[in-house]
Amino acid sequence: MTQNPGKPASPADPRALDLYDFAKSGRQAAGALRVSQMPRMLAEVPVDAPDRDTVFTWQGEGSTQPELQDDGAEAPQPYLRLAVHGSVWLTCQRCLQSYSQHLDVDATYRIVATEEEADEFPLDDDEVEVIVGSRQFDLVDLIEEELLLSLPLVPKHNVCPEVHESLLAGGSDEAGDEPDESGAAEEEEKPNPFAVLEKLKQGGPDGKKH
Ligand SMILES: [Zn+2]
Repeated sequence: MTQNPGKPASPADPRALDLYDFAKSGRQAAGALRVSQMPRMLAEVPVDAPDRDTVFTWQGEGSTQPELQDDGAEAPQPYLRLAVHGSVWLTCQRCLQSYSQHLDVDATYRIVATEEEADEFPLDDDEVEVIVGSRQFDLVDLIEEELLLSLPLVPKHNVCPEVHESLLAGGSDEAGDEPDESGAAEEEEKPNPFAVLEKLKQGGPDGKKH
């Protein structure tokens, strides 16, 4: 789990991947990552979640695609495709309970050599992102980054369990109070036209009626 720069990287080590070679030789790799191996993801998981250490599976595939160079010649350029699937427990922002959120990542990257090259890279394709390659590329870090980016802006249940149950029960006392209150407030704000009509029939304004 810890990176060891002094040791030659094994070709299968996703934390020290020769990304250029991976792309050039069109290699494939796959694996599983636990949330506990991704500290920034783990920080998003509520402490009381039923399972804090869920597993994500990932697949990576290297390739090259011919691109026109400045000199007009075509040369193969390195690409990486990454797919990640799995679920993580998050806190629902509506009911504040934990729920399991499925996350999918499917990204294609053009691998460039330097940050400068990445900044200047013409992105005419929304589907392709740019990453700076390395001979000891930390794929786990990229996977964690992508998972963090794929987290919902406001995590929440599709249907919160409380709301769901009260609907099934036909309205408990708690759930029943709310519509009544709002209904009463609405009547106060907007005078009922029939009530006004009733007053007119009874002989005019309030002062005379009683
Ligand atoms: Zn909820």
